[in-house]
Amino acid sequence: MQVLKPFIEFTREYYMTKDFIPLHEPRFRGNEKTYLLDTIDSTFVSSVGAYVDRFEEQMQNITKAQKAVAVVNGTAALQVALRLAGVQKGDEVITQALTFVATANAIAYNNATPIFLDVDLDTMGLSPKAVGQFLEEYGELRDDGCYNKTTGNRIAACLPMHTFGFPVHLDELLTICNKRNIPVVEDAAESLGSYYKGQHTGTLGLMGAFSFNGNKIVTSGGGGAIVSNNENLGDKAKYLTTTAKKPHPYEFYHDELGYNYRMPNLNAALACAQLEMLEQYLEEKRDLAEKYKQLFSPEKVKFRDELENTKANYWLMAVELENKKERNLFLEHTNKAGVMTRPIWQLMYRLPMYKDCQRDTQKNAEFLEERIVNIPSSVSK
Ligand SMILES: *Cc1c(COP(=O)(O)O)cnc(C)c1O
Repeated sequence: MQVLKPFIEFTREYYMTKDFIPLHEPRFRGNEKTYLLDTIDSTFVSSVGAYVDRFEEQMQNITKAQKAVAVVNGTAALQVALRLAGVQKGDEVITQALTFVATANAIAYNNATPIFLDVDLDTMGLSPKAVGQFLEEYGELRDDGCYNKTTGNRIAACLPMHTFGFPVHLDELLTICNKRNIPVVEDAAESLGSYYKGQHTGTLGLMGAFSFNGNKIVTSGGGGAIVSNNENLGDKAKYLTTTAKKPHPYEFYHDELGYNYRMPNLNAALACAQLEMLEQYLEEKRDLAEKYKQLFSPEKVKFRDELENTKANYWLMAVELENKKERNLFLEHTNKAGVMTRPIWQLMYRLPMYKDCQRDTQKNAEFLEERIVNIPSSVSK
């Protein structure tokens, strides 16, 4: 493979190092230290504080969502968003098998079961066509929702994931789901800074969930956010994730089963400083993506580019190899040279917890599973 040597040389030059190059590292070039020390000086390091409020405001400004709620991590954000969308014990939720395990886990935490449907080759995310076909064949619309004819269970939500920050075909998906009263919750954990037809991902469905884990485009150490344009749902998300406590100056009273899913002020401080850098990072990533595109273009290695009508954040950049053999060759050579590359996730139904879940042919998911590789995507130091 001719491109291996120039690729390895390029990454060494870009990151200015002879050492191991990881897939994605956080950078702290802004106000991180100032804000963190401020939380310590103020003693507000824990579950309430000014940075939590400020983080939520920043997220509202960035995504233009009516409401943003800070939570402890992206998985918790997904779990609570699904619960608020109406997912209950025994329900089913449509999602993709080509995803990080947290997507499926968040469904299982609500005592619901995933239905794995195929992805599109162009977006690598949930395919509206696959969802349409499945619902055409197995969906039955009743007064209280859409039911799965094969199991008799309610299909309570649809959970698409914007793989590596590439938005799924949301218009088509929303049309299909709306027709059957199935609320769409977006797993936008990887897509902060990604837009679909000018609208921020996570804000087109009923609710969206973001992650601020250490490997994401910006980080709070660990953290997440729930966004919604439905203010009532946003308020409920805040309530549920802060133990469902009725406001009172000194009495403790909780009127439903809530969670302690609060993002500590310490983490929010880091997140605030990181969000201030988001625009800058997005520009630098776009620039790196362009360079990769040029580098790979003469070869049979396809750099995964954003689609028309979308703006990708290029969180984790990806290339598509010709076949599994070529992919393994690419992985072996680059990792041996100290340039980290990684295959896309194994499909969820290969995991013991999800092996018996209903699924369709998975033709595209299996094609991509054998060919997609992530390449170093951090911005420079
Ligand atoms: C990172 C990620 C999550 C979970 O976020 P955490 O903050 O790590 O809990 C969920 N879904 C996807 C697709 C992710 O990549």
